[in-house]
Amino acid sequence: IVVSPSQLQDNQISLTPEQLHYLVRVLRSYDGDKFIAIDGTGKWWLTKLQGEFGIVLELLEVQTELPISVTLLLALPKGNGFDDVVRACTELGVANIVPVLSDRTLLNPSPQKLERWRRIAIEATEQSERTIIPTILEPMTFKAALSALTAEQKYICEGRNNNPHLLSYLQNQKQITNNQIIIAIGPEGGWTDTELQLATETGYQPVSLGKRILRAITAPTVALSLISALHEV
Ligand code: SAM
Repeated sequence: IVVSPSQLQDNQISLTPEQLHYLVRVLRSYDGDKFIAIDGTGKWWLTKLQGEFGIVLELLEVQTELPISVTLLLALPKGNGFDDVVRACTELGVANIVPVLSDRTLLNPSPQKLERWRRIAIEATEQSERTIIPTILEPMTFKAALSALTAEQKYICEGRNNNPHLLSYLQNQKQITNNQIIIAIGPEGGWTDTELQLATETGYQPVSLGKRILRAITAPTVALSLISALHEV
């Protein structure tokens, strides 16, 4: 479970009613049973349930994070598709997700949606045994995202222009000192020509993810899978 710093005092975690419910009712844990508590910024503790508290037994050394920081600029899809993207990309090791309002995005999401995505990121961090919760930034326009975010490697995925494959760039760059990648993925209707031009002018390399056109919710998982395969194998 993910705990906030204010819950931990003298090696004792005061569990929230939701956390207790999860441990006792959902997982059927009893006093003395062990569980893992994480702070979401890199620390893992082996912890023992005792009444309404978790007693910290040991700080564990674990490394489940990608060796490279990946930021995804994701044009918001219609409906609840973004929930699945946040969940899957968290499992795959994304560091930051930027929900982007693109020319072909219909709706500006409500603050409740942002809260929901952040909750999903926490759940997926727990489930996938990561140590760091990815950051979900406030939604911003594509233009604002292009100027606000910097990285050594920046790619914009575009499936229709015979672009070189993302993997070919990743392989070339792997030997060069590199720890940050930004990848932009468009909405169901694709990027507009103006957006593509703006991105290339800002240093984004247009790339392909293969010959088939992927749904906006599939494309980010393919990009992350390529990165983890290349950097973790
Ligand atoms: N009709 C749109 C078009 O013509 O571009 C299809 C958009 S696709 C459903 C949604 C987004 O996923 C695209 O904007 C792109 O960023 C990414 N994408 C999907 N398939 C891709 C591929 N084969 N190569 C690169 N990017 C792809």
